[in-house]
Amino acid sequence: MIDALGYATTGRHSSLKPHPFQCDEPGASDVQIDVMFCGVCHSDIHQARNEWGNTVYPCMPGHEVVGRVARVGSAVTRFGVGDLVGVGCMVDSCRTCPSCAAGEENYCEGPNSWLATYNGPMIPAAKSPDGTNRYGRDNTFGGYATTIVVTERFVLRIPPALAPEAAAPILCAGVTTYSPLRHWGVKPGDRVGVVGFGGLGDMAVKLARAMGAAVTVFTTSEDKVPLARALGATAVVGADKDALAALKASFDLILSTVPQSHDLNPFIPLLRRDRAIVVVGALDALKPVANMQVAAQRRSVSASLIGSIAETQEVLDFCAEHAIAPDIQVIPMSEINDAYARVVKGDVRFRYVIDIATLRSEQGRALPGPAKGREAL
Ligand SMILES: [Zn+2]
Ligand SMILES: [Zn+2]
Repeated sequence: MIDALGYATTGRHSSLKPHPFQCDEPGASDVQIDVMFCGVCHSDIHQARNEWGNTVYPCMPGHEVVGRVARVGSAVTRFGVGDLVGVGCMVDSCRTCPSCAAGEENYCEGPNSWLATYNGPMIPAAKSPDGTNRYGRDNTFGGYATTIVVTERFVLRIPPALAPEAAAPILCAGVTTYSPLRHWGVKPGDRVGVVGFGGLGDMAVKLARAMGAAVTVFTTSEDKVPLARALGATAVVGADKDALAALKASFDLILSTVPQSHDLNPFIPLLRRDRAIVVVGALDALKPVANMQVAAQRRSVSASLIGSIAETQEVLDFCAEHAIAPDIQVIPMSEINDAYARVVKGDVRFRYVIDIATLRSEQGRALPGPAKGREAL
């Protein structure tokens, strides 16, 4: 077993605290990673606070993980010690269902769906059709930790052109916006709308611009207008009815990156015929959609969930090629609870990234002792 230290929470009203634990040694196909940086995603907060009602405690979040390979199993062929690598939202999937066979593991149809980097399988044993858990573990611990062990197939290569701390948010925010832009075929000259301008919105604008699209940001914050303009986008603030009316039937794709329940109705009339609005930020029930304005131009209201492993590698390579980096602020591990409060208030300019070296120095100071709580990994 490997002694590791992470930050975890033990209940929905608890803060994140240092949590020593033990990882299994890497098996033949596994890669052991010394974590360097981990992005702070809004999902981490939803999960830590059990806002989706499925949290397994202790909860150690983190699915934008960048680090160096410390050790590899005997059957690992694609990575060697010292390589800069990443881990996104998934660490395994059933590998045999039609979605996995098509390389779309993020839509795994297996009895437990995919194994999330933290919080265990997407469908736990209690909710699986046969009451089993093929992954053999109910919980997993994410990247708010010194060490993570992941099967080679779910490890990503970080291109040398990317700074490791800036690469972290690409692993969730980047692929979550890249996947629908690709799926819906955004091409040069298209018009793309981005609703919400936080961590996801920032990546959506940068990626869509690099694909040659003209981008409009819809934000509730006047302060963010100059930031949108600096990225080559135009911006519409709040529910400016005249501005929205002027944009009627003019967009080829709209991505909604708002991280909680919201109203899509003001944006649907902005789509051209046969075009889609895709929800990528929220998993909650949304306000009912007025179907007349969907039907009127055979529009689609859609949603998508992160992206596949292949798409995650693609977006990392795309960002390296187009010199795209998320806007980030690096924080020490000890500031994570304040960071959560600021993210919830919307008081952050894009993405916090935790410097895990600060956690490693906490580990150096911690008294050695047996790990408490359940095993993860
Ligand atoms: Zn995320
Ligand atoms: Zn599958």
